[in-house]
Amino acid sequence: MWDVVVVGGGNAALCSALMAREAGASVLILEASPKEWRGGNSQHTRNLRCMHDAPQDVLVDAYPEEEYWQDLLKVTGGITNEKLARMVIRESSTCRPWMEKHGVRFQPSLSGTLHVARTNAFFMGGGKALVNAYYRSAENLGIDILYDSPVDDLEIKDGTFIAARVGDKRYEGHAVVLGCGGFESDRAWLREAWGQNERGEWPADNFLIRGTRYNMGVVLKVMMREGADTMGDPTQAHCVAIDARSPLYDGGICTRIDCVSLGIVVNREAKRFYDEGEDFWPKRYALWGRLVAMQPGQIAYSIIDAKSVGRFMPPVFDGVKADTLPELARKLELDVDTFMETVNSFNAACRVGTFDHTIQDDCHTEGITPEKTHWARPIDTGPFYGYAVRPGVTFTYFGLTTDEKASVFFNGKASPNMFAAGEINAGNVLGKGYTAGVGMSIGTAFGRIAGTQAALAAKKMKEGAVKHAAA
Ligand SMILES: Cc1cc2nc3c(=O)[nH]c(=O)nc-3n(C[C@H](O)[C@H](O)[C@H](O)COP(=O)(O)OP(=O)(O)OC[C@H]3O[C@@H](n4cnc5c(N)ncnc54)[C@H](O)[C@@H]3O)c2cc1C
Repeated sequence: MWDVVVVGGGNAALCSALMAREAGASVLILEASPKEWRGGNSQHTRNLRCMHDAPQDVLVDAYPEEEYWQDLLKVTGGITNEKLARMVIRESSTCRPWMEKHGVRFQPSLSGTLHVARTNAFFMGGGKALVNAYYRSAENLGIDILYDSPVDDLEIKDGTFIAARVGDKRYEGHAVVLGCGGFESDRAWLREAWGQNERGEWPADNFLIRGTRYNMGVVLKVMMREGADTMGDPTQAHCVAIDARSPLYDGGICTRIDCVSLGIVVNREAKRFYDEGEDFWPKRYALWGRLVAMQPGQIAYSIIDAKSVGRFMPPVFDGVKADTLPELARKLELDVDTFMETVNSFNAACRVGTFDHTIQDDCHTEGITPEKTHWARPIDTGPFYGYAVRPGVTFTYFGLTTDEKASVFFNGKASPNMFAAGEINAGNVLGKGYTAGVGMSIGTAFGRIAGTQAALAAKKMKEGAVKHAAA
């Protein structure tokens, strides 16, 4: 029997495990994946978004609480819990020294189209190095770790955790932290959530999963069966437009197509469908997967000309290249006449001022729908490039209702010893939308809190059991 059982082995779970151990608890981590795939989606990450009032190590200028909050408010359209969101924001300003203590190293932001030198601290060696550092620290602190251990059931009585089950094995704990991700890897659940559209298509059948194959939402389903309070819309997710040639799972960040705001995006019918220059790419990139999911065949084409080459992070696979626009349309199997009509009317609508991709510049369109509000320049300089993109699901937002202590709720009542952190409760802060780096801020903040609270709860449960036995 352990004080704290942690289900999952990504960032949120590891933060919980380390904090619980530091608080004196004995800790067991149950990770679904084999050792070589440990770390869930966290292994694919690069940075976390941090509040700071003045320049701090790798972060330039300032990114005050209010600005962070306004950014979150804007992307979520207000579907966020302000109290929890502000708590995450404040935690993001103080967690880095603790992360460094456990071996995580930071570096200044990389160049590219994510304008994040001010707001985001990058992990040296990426998420894989972060996860490895946390596992090393966990081993050094004497945390027990079991790989290949997908929890398939939980024993819960009156909202109190008793044990986690992996097949016929049973792991008892005085408290539990559920840090086992969303349900994005379960394609059947995604299919059910998205349903069939007006064209008779099942959009989710054309989705790709950017991260781990192990976030199957099994524990979330168990919690639903047990009557835990849930929140969020199962179709809402962090969903990015990624290269249509990406693998089904674990394509990671190199499959992202980051030139959307520099050109135009057309659907299978060769028509534009959204303002490509609405806002800075870090605040918009996670919208585009959903936008593509709404298009016929769940496919779209990001089109740029030679002027944009070198201004964005190059994708891992080359784009389709052509010397003329009609040739590009033919190569992408788009209707040439419609494509040319789309490009020509876009080009004619461009009002080019002073192009500057580092600010919301004055290059915009007039008289077309949808408009392009920034970085609008005619697509007129060959060679031309096109990238076919599909929706790439990063993580789902539907999950467990929690409070500022990361407690799980049953019928509005907080469980005395069950806590949740990471993707599984991210929807409390992220009802929809996304701003780069906030996933790791949420997981780190709630993970650390959940670990501390679980250690405290375990102590109370043990004291309660001793009193009960003595009575
Ligand atoms: C390609 C990519 C890039 C990203 N980049 C960034 C970034 O730069 N910054 C950022 O903030 N966010 C980023 N994200 C999002 C980020 O990964 C998540 O917000 C964050 O990692 C969530 O942490 P987590 O611990 O909740 O989930 P995960 O890291 O996915 O961990 C969940 C863990 O639970 C395990 N698990 C699942 N089911 C079970 C079960 N039944 N039993 C036992 N274990 C189970 C999994 O194996 C996994 O180890 C990115 C995601 C992807 C896919």
